[in-house]
Amino acid sequence: MADSAGRVYLVGAGPGDPGLLTLRGLDCLRLADVIFYDRLVPVSLLDYSRPDSERVCLTDLGTHRPERWPLLLERMIASARAGKIVVRLKGGDPFVFGRGGEEAQTLREAGIDYEIVPGVTAALAAAAYAEIPVTHRAHASEVTFVTGHECPGKGSPSVDWARLAALPGTVVLYMGMNRLGEIVPALLGHGKPGSTPAAVVENASRGDQRTLKTTLDKLPEAVQRAGMHAPSLVILGEVVKLQPEMSWAERRPLQGKRVLIARPGKQGLALARQLDALGAVSLLAPALLLAPPASWTPVDDAIAHIVDFDWLVFTSANGVRAFVERLRHQGKDLRALGRARLAAIGTATAGELGSYHLNADLIPGEFVSEALAAELLPHVRGASVLLVRAEQGREILLKTLETAARVRQIAVYRQEPNAHLKQALSACWKPAPPEYILLTSSNIAHALLQALDESQTGSIRQGKTKLISISQVTTRAVCEHNLTVAGEATPHTMDGMIALLQKLARG
Ligand code: SAH
Repeated sequence: MADSAGRVYLVGAGPGDPGLLTLRGLDCLRLADVIFYDRLVPVSLLDYSRPDSERVCLTDLGTHRPERWPLLLERMIASARAGKIVVRLKGGDPFVFGRGGEEAQTLREAGIDYEIVPGVTAALAAAAYAEIPVTHRAHASEVTFVTGHECPGKGSPSVDWARLAALPGTVVLYMGMNRLGEIVPALLGHGKPGSTPAAVVENASRGDQRTLKTTLDKLPEAVQRAGMHAPSLVILGEVVKLQPEMSWAERRPLQGKRVLIARPGKQGLALARQLDALGAVSLLAPALLLAPPASWTPVDDAIAHIVDFDWLVFTSANGVRAFVERLRHQGKDLRALGRARLAAIGTATAGELGSYHLNADLIPGEFVSEALAAELLPHVRGASVLLVRAEQGREILLKTLETAARVRQIAVYRQEPNAHLKQALSACWKPAPPEYILLTSSNIAHALLQALDESQTGSIRQGKTKLISISQVTTRAVCEHNLTVAGEATPHTMDGMIALLQKLARG
């Protein structure tokens, strides 16, 4: 029985594609007070946890692995004893070469309550994303997972290479990249034919996945020539022959493209998931964070008089959400909106209204403030209009509508600079500059471009990093920084940006 209210979840994060986390794993992440994560875990998963959760990367605990591990266990136990919900997020599956067994045992002995959530192990991800069926009725009835990195403290090595060489099925070698010079001769020496088909899958399931196909005897040399690195798996066996020239994953339209997403919060994550599914390596660097407005008083006052307005005008999905939440906070609900007509700047804003079962009465043909102002104008003559927006919005709507209507403008949220932006950017430039940066508003463009250092700006000037703008206004913001965009999305939506990205990626 557990002796504390805290709990530890040993969660398999999957092999790299964030979409491969299980729903149970996601539930645990959302609950977590503290997350201890491995270096190989896709970091965007951390953004699904509460913003106030504590996140500790294992490499922060100490430089050397053997020293780090007892420290990690100590910290996990202390957190759980303090009543915290702890998630130990591990690459792949916790019980496949992941020390999950030892961690669970230590927790058990310490009387800590725990749960184990499996993950997609690297071998199975490599199989699916490189299209190498590890079993096949005609070619392999068994599959063996083996480590190429024996625990040095064990004394005698426990991998029996002679037996492994004699196995007829598929062999998947984990952690073997640095030891191929010893492993391959051992297998050959024990009679495994040099002609055995071999594949190496690097970064399985990620946008930067690479596959190499060869035979066992040529494996070390081929790996060296192709410059393949960890994390990689070696797959040996007849099933390797079944692999198509290019797997479905490697044929994806954005495969391997490193795309920087500067949108904050849930919207950034939603965009990342769309891009990841197309094969991109999404890099999250929110340029601005969403925060409550400096004062709720004007908003609450407008809500108190909401029946007086003929039109409510929304210029962003965030604005819709913040407004409706405040309405409910004030003890009202959607019935309070009564007869007011609703305008939305574009389909995303209208979609957010739709999520509250509200239909937009007006969406302009082009999703920019100028078009919204022009199309609204004939409808609002003599009317009373409430403009619901961000604190730092543009003034064009107000100025235009004021010529015909009584307009009140309220700020329902604020965009704050992200204090960690520079840090996030330098992570996005490693190991190479991002190929694309998606600029989804002029505010985001200003915040992001201001935060770039000289070498980062240099990669834009040299064309290594291309800027993609959502609209003319954003493009103009880019020009103010003496930079140019590689393209402007039409329609001015996320889907428009993704379509443009695919077009540019095709060359
Ligand atoms: N628990 C993990 C394995 C950890 S051992 C799992 O179930 O997948 C680390 C080894 O896993 C690496 O050396 C590499 O061989 C393999 N690995 C992990 N992620 C990988 C990936 N995305 N692509 C290829 N191999 C990977």
